[in-house]
Amino acid sequence: MKAFTYQRVNTPVEAAVALAQPNARIIAGGTNLLDLMKLQVETPGHLVDVNRLDLARIEDTQDGGLRIGAMVRNSDLAADNRVRERYGVLSRALLAGASAQLRNKATTGGNLLQRTRCPYFYDITTPCNKRVPGSGCAALAGFNRMLSVLGGSDQCIATNPSDMAVAMRALDATVETVDAAGKAHTIPIADFHRLPGTTPQIDTNLAKGKVITAVTLPPPPPGRQIYRKVRDRASYAFALVSVAAVIDTVGGRIRSARVACGGLAPKPWRVNQAEAALTGAPANPGTFDAAATALLEGARGHGSNDFKIPLARRSLSAVLTEITRA
Ligand code: SF4
Repeated sequence: MKAFTYQRVNTPVEAAVALAQPNARIIAGGTNLLDLMKLQVETPGHLVDVNRLDLARIEDTQDGGLRIGAMVRNSDLAADNRVRERYGVLSRALLAGASAQLRNKATTGGNLLQRTRCPYFYDITTPCNKRVPGSGCAALAGFNRMLSVLGGSDQCIATNPSDMAVAMRALDATVETVDAAGKAHTIPIADFHRLPGTTPQIDTNLAKGKVITAVTLPPPPPGRQIYRKVRDRASYAFALVSVAAVIDTVGGRIRSARVACGGLAPKPWRVNQAEAALTGAPANPGTFDAAATALLEGARGHGSNDFKIPLARRSLSAVLTEITRA
């Protein structure tokens, strides 16, 4: 491991100011960054420890939503009664992620910023455009079983590993940030994570020098909520495909629909046309199939991950069948 300096901060603005140091990184739970440092994938010059920030509260908002502090641990968020009762899709997504030990350490802000688990990204002996821009992508013709079938580019097909972010995408969350001047900003979760394009080294639209302070959820949408994660083993595994769905039905027809998928793309994948295919339609296999076709428009496998396309179709159909059952 390379030597680095370390600083504890007490306010979000102090953290943002500290980020001006060369090659500075924030550390909270450290559940991803420490692994990356041990493998020398990340070699920060300065670590900014935010564990003392007063951002570990979950608060009701005036409009009936929730404001989740960036330092709220994943396990606390999943267990919060308001989240369990009103945002079940989020609680279930959190509990589907990682292991109990990791959830006890991992934070809301850190979860959003965790990096891909593409195996080549973690192996510094292989080419990886995300780790070393311009070096190539070993995954395109290599072991890509876990990687993207949607939203990738000829430079990177990494997937976003977060379960939490998929549920937050279905719930239309907003990410709150602050900069070194104390100015607050917001980013809709839809715009938070980026597609790789020609700059796969940049995962998010969080501008340099800004610190995540909270995630706000609007009031819960009507209907039933489900999070289903398909993976290689029952726990402590990343999604091959996951589905976060919030569906409201009346008289056998779908009144409103929100569907986001994980494991398929570099960001939580939500497609307007898929939800349009569901809204107002009868809850039957033909409707579900039309939604899957819209959701998977443009999907392309790279060999080992070809199976994800039919798996996503079947997973979506299973979730929609269950959630619309009378
Ligand atoms: Fe690197 Fe992305 Fe290629 Fe994986 S898919 S090797 S993260 S460039």
